[in-house]
This record gives sequence, structure tokens and C-alpha cells, in this order.
Amino acid sequence: MSDCIFCNIVNREIPSYTVYEDEDVYAFLDITQTTKGHTLVIPKKHVADIFAYDEELSQKVFSRIPKIARALELAFPDMKGLNVINNNKELAYQTVFHSHFHLIPRYDESDGFKLTFTNHADDYSPNDMQEIADLIKRNVTL
Ligand code: 5GP
Ligand code: ZN
Repeated sequence: MSDCIFCNIVNREIPSYTVYEDEDVYAFLDITQTTKGHTLVIPKKHVADIFAYDEELSQKVFSRIPKIARALELAFPDMKGLNVINNNKELAYQTVFHSHFHLIPRYDESDGFKLTFTNHADDYSPNDMQEIADLIKRNVTL
């Protein structure tokens, strides 16, 4: 897609710092470097978000993530953890609509990355939880 910034990066129309490349997948440094080594892993094929992945593309992209994670761990011995983040659609903070996975190395609590999970467990009875799980289960198609 010619008006997609990540397609432009894959096609070398926009420069980037390559971390990994094969026939199907490209990984490069995120321009913001939230933490040192912050990397984006993307399918070379343009897909907007996770909802557009088929089995074959999933296999290609997801199998590369641990590979690149291990490279980060080896590259940065002071790395103590890694967040893998994938934002889908605007409400969920997606700003570039070519699917991508953020690999964000973690060094300490004040390294520049924050993520909050609010605990709403008290709002759901065991029955509510069962109903939610069953609803999702009925909708698994692949
Ligand atoms: P999102 O918010 O969609 O999950 O993440 C998009 C990411 O793309 C952001 O972290 C942003 O820094 C990164 N980004 C946007 N434009 C460019 C670019 O031109 N080059 C690189 N390397 N990263 C970019
Ligand atoms: Zn694209």
C-alpha cells in the first residue's frame, strides 16, 4: 500500500534500522526507542491489524517473535525483561494501521515504559465469568 508508512519502510522508500529480515517478516527499530532496543516486528504483507491474520501469516509472524526476543536478550545483557505489545485499532492505541508487534526491552522500573492492568475481579460473579468464557468459546472459528 503506497500510503502506508510501514509498507514504505519494507520497500526501502523510507529508511529504517533493520534488526531482522526474511521473505515474510521485517523487524526494525521503533523511532521512539521507548527503551533501548525497542523493536517493531511486522509482516511484509500489508495487513491492518490482528483481525486480518490467517493461519499462514500468523505462523510466519508469531514464530519470529521469540527469535527476535532472544536476540534482544543476547544483545543487551542488562535487559531484565521484555514486553510484547500489539495494539489493534485506534481505541487500543494503534496509530500505524499496518499490523506490528512492539518488543520493548525492560531494564528497570523507571526505564520509560508503563502498563497498568486494573483489577475488576470484584465486578464479576463466577456465573458472569462462565458466561463470558462460553460466549467467547462459541465464537472461536479457526
Ligand atoms: P502503535 O501506536 O500503532 O502501536 O505504534 C506505532 C509505532 O510506530 C510507534 O511506536 C512509532 O514510534 C512508530 N513509528 C511511526 N512512524 C515511524 C517511522 O517512520 N519509523 C519508525 N522506525 N517507527 C515509526
Ligand atoms: Zn502497509
